[in-house]
Amino acid sequence: MVLDPFTLLVLTAAMAAASALCLAAEWSSVRERSLLLWSAGFSIIAVGSVLALLRSSGHVLLGIWFPNGLLIVAHWLFLAGVAGFTRARLPRAWWLVAVVWLAMLFLPDGPWWSKVMLGTQSLLIAVITLRAGLLLRPQGGVLSLGAAQLRFVLLAHGLFYLAKAGSTLMPEAFVNLAGFRGAVILVSLVEGAMAIMLLAISMTGTERHRREERIAEIAARDPLTGLDNRRALYLRAPALLAQASPARPCALLLIDIDHFKQVNDLHGHDAGDRLLMALSDLIRGALPDGALAARLGGDEFVILLRGVSDTTVQALSQELRETFAEQARAMFVTPEPVSLSIGATLSEQPDAELSHWLKQADEALYASKRKGRDRMELVPLRDHPPIENLAKL
Ligand code: GH3
Ligand code: MG
Repeated sequence: MVLDPFTLLVLTAAMAAASALCLAAEWSSVRERSLLLWSAGFSIIAVGSVLALLRSSGHVLLGIWFPNGLLIVAHWLFLAGVAGFTRARLPRAWWLVAVVWLAMLFLPDGPWWSKVMLGTQSLLIAVITLRAGLLLRPQGGVLSLGAAQLRFVLLAHGLFYLAKAGSTLMPEAFVNLAGFRGAVILVSLVEGAMAIMLLAISMTGTERHRREERIAEIAARDPLTGLDNRRALYLRAPALLAQASPARPCALLLIDIDHFKQVNDLHGHDAGDRLLMALSDLIRGALPDGALAARLGGDEFVILLRGVSDTTVQALSQELRETFAEQARAMFVTPEPVSLSIGATLSEQPDAELSHWLKQADEALYASKRKGRDRMELVPLRDHPPIENLAKL
């Protein structure tokens, strides 16, 4: 089968229409605006490819200027989609693209008409596409796999159009837009068909990957406080616990609010929620680098620290207890003081199990409740003695 320009254009129209449908279907479940803009871009390419077939019947405006302009609009929509995805704002100066293309309507007829038309169109597409590729730069040093793929395809496609613009404007180049003649036109049609496929795949992947990241993020968060939940704690703790050594012990603090039910019963569930959020803010603010904090459920929180000593754990515990008791007093009046009880344990074993640690800290917490609340009981590092022997700190 010979891949003549007409066959390639029909193929391009079919592939662009299929891509537009795929992205629209993806949008119907994800509801991200970028997908809609990209889908619109592909629909416009499909329409433009069909209209381009008219040029052989002598329709210069409808068969050349208009579909070539539609290809620019499609790439502009791709750029707008990428800007939406990266939360970037596009300056108004981008509307100059439309002005330049409108000005091409007044390009006088002549032997170089096709070359100037194609060269200008290619340059505009190159600038738009390269900008879109550059917008997808890594944020915080990391670019998700889907976005990295889209960036690569956009940059490669943009560079192709830059080379195409350069080649069409070279004096020896032969271009005849009306007759689809000139090697650059054929090569461009083949590249276009491939680019459609790669762009559509990577656009879908980009949004899908972000959605998966969001779902994972939601699954790991406690909805009320925004701290990690129990599931996330079990996933992240092993990496922190593995850093424990005699020189840099790790610590686990299990925190429970004292007389929390009184806040709920006397001031309402919302008041209790506000107190839980206040405590989580306090914990977040006091957390050193590399530490983990999670809400296990109810009024129970966990802090995991690395590279600490008895003294640092005691200091953190005291700071949290004093600040929280003060805040709770200022927020709600209760018959019994609302304070924090903490059970803490230290480990220098890199293979310590989180569940084993939690059990130890829970026993220490129970001891601190039994001994009158508003205090921390710490399982000493050496030999982790029975709970009865815990020292009051
Ligand atoms: P203690 O001093 O022995 O710790 O008793 P307490 O009153 O603090 O009560 P306890 O820790 O045994 O129970 C925690 C209570 O927290 C039970 C439940 O009604 C309440 N609770 C659990 N989850 C939530 C929540 O998301 N919001 C609010 N407002 N209350 C909650
Ligand atoms: Mg409690």
